[in-house]
Amino acid sequence: MTIPVALVGIGKIARDQHVPAIAADPGFELVATVSRHGSVEGVPAFADLDAFLADGPQAAVSLCVPPSVRTEMALAALAAGRDVMLEKPTAATLGEVEAMVVAAEAAGATLFATWHSREAPGVAAARDWLNGRRIESAAVVWKEDVRRWHPGQAWIREPAGFGVFDPGINALSILTAILPGAHRVEAATLVFPENRQTPVAAQVSLRGPGGFPVSVDLDWLQQGPQSWDIAVETDAGRLVLSHGGARLAIDGVERVAEAEAEYPRLYRRFAELVRARESDVDASPLRIVADAFLIGRREIAAPFFD
Ligand code: NAP
Repeated sequence: MTIPVALVGIGKIARDQHVPAIAADPGFELVATVSRHGSVEGVPAFADLDAFLADGPQAAVSLCVPPSVRTEMALAALAAGRDVMLEKPTAATLGEVEAMVVAAEAAGATLFATWHSREAPGVAAARDWLNGRRIESAAVVWKEDVRRWHPGQAWIREPAGFGVFDPGINALSILTAILPGAHRVEAATLVFPENRQTPVAAQVSLRGPGGFPVSVDLDWLQQGPQSWDIAVETDAGRLVLSHGGARLAIDGVERVAEAEAEYPRLYRRFAELVRARESDVDASPLRIVADAFLIGRREIAAPFFD
């Protein structure tokens, strides 16, 4: 049975990943778009979610809008009995996550909070290799150039836009997948440009499950080489996940990782959840970000201009 789905927010990630992933999956049919400015050729377009829910076809809803507006849309879709898939980061606050989970349960609807980086080719193999080993420490280095990767995305620098934690939470989603359990923030430093509401850099010190230290170094004013790397020291050697989880090496030896794209895997998982009438919501990456904001020291840096 094909699942009809509507894409809400026709921006960069919808165009780059969601539209092709849906088109390639015989389990889904794109039956509507909801966007103030965008559309997909040949697909009925609605200017806002209320109009779609009132007049559009019965369909699941995949939300590709920024976190500042996502929860209200998710709650409206769930109240209308629609199954809902969420882009990362799940929501702007932990309370919003809870509200969505409660609403999905009340509606008997599926709620899937995606973390696309967890679907990167090396992540499952890394988790399997680490399982049962003694972990000594872990280090996350996530440094990219915001002007290159997020041009024109003003929302990302506003409250609820997450700033450097928008890419950084991808690293935390991998960390919490390969080393599952309670990660607690011990200290954090957040660097805010004097003219912006979200940080451009952050250093976070965590204790992983069982107490091993984890350092997280995030920067999105990185010039030159870009880094999306996680290294884990264990009693059996050093594991390095690099290129955002695409490559895996143990003690410097590359393991051949299955080369499968992230978004087709996310849609397959959404189909499984819809058919099983289940939800999948893990707020652990968002909790680390929230805790870093709760106890972090704030440093003011030079103003940031696009
Ligand atoms: P984007 O290019 O700025 O697109 C955002 C979309 O949401 C647009 O279609 C926009 O306008 C719609 N929207 C609705 N209300 C909005 C509001 N108040 N402010 C801004 N936009 C609003 O952003 P994106 O890169 O696609 O990111 C969307 C989500 O996907 C974010 O949570 C991001 O973290 C996540 N994501 C992005 C990437 C990436 O590489 N860019 C990768 C993975 C995940 P319309 O109403 O006109 O459609």
